[in-house]
Amino acid sequence: MSSVLPLSAALLSLLTAAPKTPAPALAAGPSPQVAERLIGAALTEGHAYARLAELTDGIGPRLSGSEGEKAAVAWAKRSFEADGVKVWLEPVKVPRWVRGTESGRVPGTERYREHRLALMALGGSVGTPAEGLTAEVIEVRSLEEVAALGEKVKGKVVLFNHSMTVAADYGKAAALRTRGASVAAKAGAVGMLVRSLATASLRSPHTGAMRYDEDGPRIPAAAVSVEDAELLHRLLAGGPVKVELKLGCQTLPDADSFNVVAEVPGREKPREVVLLGAHLDSWDVGTGAHDDGAGVVMVMEAARLLGKLKPAPRRTVRVVLFANEENGLKGGRAYAEAHAGELANHVAALEMDAGGFKPLGVALRAGPGGAELVAPWLKPLEALGAGSILQGDAGGADISPLIPARVPFVGVRVDSSRYFDVHHSEADTLDKVDAKELAQATAAVAWVSYVLAEVPGVLPRPEAPPPAEAPKTPSGAPVGAPKPSAP
Ligand SMILES: [Zn+2]
Repeated sequence: MSSVLPLSAALLSLLTAAPKTPAPALAAGPSPQVAERLIGAALTEGHAYARLAELTDGIGPRLSGSEGEKAAVAWAKRSFEADGVKVWLEPVKVPRWVRGTESGRVPGTERYREHRLALMALGGSVGTPAEGLTAEVIEVRSLEEVAALGEKVKGKVVLFNHSMTVAADYGKAAALRTRGASVAAKAGAVGMLVRSLATASLRSPHTGAMRYDEDGPRIPAAAVSVEDAELLHRLLAGGPVKVELKLGCQTLPDADSFNVVAEVPGREKPREVVLLGAHLDSWDVGTGAHDDGAGVVMVMEAARLLGKLKPAPRRTVRVVLFANEENGLKGGRAYAEAHAGELANHVAALEMDAGGFKPLGVALRAGPGGAELVAPWLKPLEALGAGSILQGDAGGADISPLIPARVPFVGVRVDSSRYFDVHHSEADTLDKVDAKELAQATAAVAWVSYVLAEVPGVLPRPEAPPPAEAPKTPSGAPVGAPKPSAP
């Protein structure tokens, strides 16, 4: 597929049309020439898509501590250098979990024949004994239901079935995946299955992070395909059902990794930092094209295009490609710690981690007056349908450790309605990313980054959060979850 996209003359003129009578407050407003250069280049040069092909088809999956992750760090550094953007690596210790071989089946009975299960261990799960574990299944819909069942859970494999059908359900259903094993183990269960958190399925299981309570028992945990959760549900209606699980996964000692940090220094206020983030790691299945290869290439392209501007934007634009978002958030935490002394100078943070889809608009998490500051500068995005301020929060898992420092968050929201068709599955591959939509989102990110770096004032900082809330993502979703409405 050609990665160069035609840009109609009409669109270009829309993007670059200067207001007839600029309002006095906007006298120092965005220059149409800069808008043309940034947005035009992102829409027509196909650079982000070409980079995404290198990262996905070239390097492939990049789970923390894996060879793929190491290769991705080296690739990112090399790529920034090729773009003439200053880059360095900041060390992060990351967990190292490996999947091994895995399988599951429903042994046949006189009532039904044997069925293979399409399953995938959850990241962080312990393995089963080598010979596997066989037990009866008990189906629940919620964490609360486990406690209500009492003794009935003992010695069973708990199946967390749920009714996620749209992206917005993700935050709720994710708690079953992350917490289900510990809740079930405490009640005496010997294994845990969760229906894949998916909005479409061709019998593909979707993995994701889980965590055990520090002092509780640890039981093997896996996601089954939506179809297999439905099968188990039907078989259970007719009487007891056993499953056999063989999971070869294990946790190895922590590994050395890096946040990749790159910077376009500001011309006037170099100490004021606009942070653009995405995470370089992915799950070990598929090639992390939407999650979060798309975010990575968008922020890299923004830096490349901003780096070519003469003069440079007023403030420093810093790109951080975070390590270990999926199963630990160690990169986000390491950044907040290493840069604690300069977080007061972080004037905005923007994280792209909801897929490479069509941009819809801009969301803010800032104090009163933030929208008024930014909105007039979003005009050049109107032709893309992304020129307005949207309701709802902005954020991202990797930048969530910046919440206590009251760093304003800005989000370029994309249409993530189909994100969970492929999220954390073998199907998250380059062919699912539409080159044109990726280019449009990249254009929006490049432009919003420029606005934040150039607008005369800075965003008012948001209120400090209540102390207990700080480490969560804005959706209240656990680590490894993308943004709320992007779920
Ligand atoms: Zn992600």
